[in-house]
Amino acid sequence: MANRKPTVAIVGGGFSGCMVAVHLLQQAQQPLRVVLIDRADSPGRGVAYRDQPECHLLNVRAEAMSAFPDRPDHFLDWLNNSYSPCHPVGTTEFLPRRIYGFYLESLLAAAQQGARRGVSLEVRNDEVLGLRPAEDGVSLRLGSGGQLRADRLVLALGNPGPADPPLADQKFFGSPRYLGHAWSTPGLYSIQRDENLLLIGSGLTTLDWLAALQTLGHHGRIHVVSRRGLLPQLHRAAAPHTLSFNPLELPARVLPLLRRMRAEVAAAEARGGDWRAVVDALRPFTQKLWQRLPASEQQRFLRHLRPYWEIHRHRAAPRIVESVYELLRSGQLQVLAGRLQGFEEREGEVEVSIRPRLGKGMQKLQVQRVVNCTGPESNYRRLNHPLIVSLRERGLIQPDSLGLGLQTDAHGALLDRDGLASERLHTLGPARKGLLWETTAVPEIRIQAQALARRLLLLCASDEKTAARPAQEKPRASV
Ligand SMILES: Cc1cc2nc3c(=O)[nH]c(=O)nc-3n(C[C@H](O)[C@H](O)[C@H](O)COP(=O)(O)OP(=O)(O)OC[C@H]3O[C@@H](n4cnc5c(N)ncnc54)[C@H](O)[C@@H]3O)c2cc1C
Repeated sequence: MANRKPTVAIVGGGFSGCMVAVHLLQQAQQPLRVVLIDRADSPGRGVAYRDQPECHLLNVRAEAMSAFPDRPDHFLDWLNNSYSPCHPVGTTEFLPRRIYGFYLESLLAAAQQGARRGVSLEVRNDEVLGLRPAEDGVSLRLGSGGQLRADRLVLALGNPGPADPPLADQKFFGSPRYLGHAWSTPGLYSIQRDENLLLIGSGLTTLDWLAALQTLGHHGRIHVVSRRGLLPQLHRAAAPHTLSFNPLELPARVLPLLRRMRAEVAAAEARGGDWRAVVDALRPFTQKLWQRLPASEQQRFLRHLRPYWEIHRHRAAPRIVESVYELLRSGQLQVLAGRLQGFEEREGEVEVSIRPRLGKGMQKLQVQRVVNCTGPESNYRRLNHPLIVSLRERGLIQPDSLGLGLQTDAHGALLDRDGLASERLHTLGPARKGLLWETTAVPEIRIQAQALARRLLLLCASDEKTAARPAQEKPRASV
């Protein structure tokens, strides 16, 4: 270590990994090697902002999408000075997500150019398949066949693909009529315009699909099924609201908070306000509220309230919702509340059986393609990617008990199977949902990325000091 430049490897080049790299490059005062690895060839963009059709819009207004917590106008300034100087962008616009991808790419390039002497970035298009502790660090096994040693590692794995629906008979999931991963743009373009479709799930990914299908002139029938058949609400401009109570002073249970929020919405609406502003006013408290709930209350929330929370908190751009209304009005789109019971392929189509949420009997649908639009699989006990399997088998991670992500300490250091915080392995973003709940969107991740980069630099500096001490005085570093 004494003569070696410290290496921080970041697995995952989405927003989370990209922003940790940007902060490391900007803040490092001493020589440092940053290696950003992503299996996709679009560093910075990740799942959300890569290779998207123009109609896939950000679900957050431009004014709230700065990548830097302490420079709130940064994205708007970039848009109006660098991206589109001749056509100024309004603060409240919902822009195509691909533009945000260009923004992230430009941040990475600028940070690389502006880095101090000796501070370098390597971007690798590779897949990390395994990890083992190595002397003074970790060794990564790469899909390309090589190994990479690093002193510190950030797992910025983001949004794994969705799990297949939990049916006893899984045969259909191998069929070409099943598209298991809705974030695949080639998958979207493989749909024939007259095919009848079933979209599983009714969240923001489904809305993306509906908007895209409409833009592409799709004229087959579209069925959407989810347990409750709830669609995300639309964003609407609303004057900011200040809560009339301190949510952290309520009893640490879900029901009192729900009642208080309902009363707050009713009072705000009676004064001409909008429920959206009330929901948004809760956001600064959400992480603390979640953390003070006992596990039984967190489970109660997940079981009963989660779908309602999701559609009110994760709203869609008005243009997207308009497409959905149009499809509903024309009768081309049908939204069902029910449980999938099975699929049967016969004579060029698929018969889908659904047990409706209300009423008896079984509903049968005939479609040509089925698309899984459910959200990311967050249960790290079930994920079977070789990297996750290797981390689990070595006891280096501990999936949280709610199946939402990975256990970490307050800085994002991963807890091992014995609950000890790692000195070398960190994570951020969606993987911390079990601890923080509100941790999947840009406004939260940008704060984590900045703080984690600072922490990694401190750890690297302390490694340097340790390396300079005589061998007998050095503490043994844990993974
Ligand atoms: C479709 C979609 C739209 C969204 N829109 C918005 C929005 O408008 N506004 C907002 O604030 N948030 C939005 N989000 C939330 C989103 O989670 C965050 O904004 C952010 O993009 C998360 O970034 P990430 O880097 O954590 O995850 P991801 O974007 O999922 O990136 C993780 C990366 O890790 C890579 N990876 C994983 N495993 C490996 C491995 N073993 N080896 C190599 N590479 C690996 C993947 O290829 C991927 O590129 C959206 C999310 C999705 C899925």
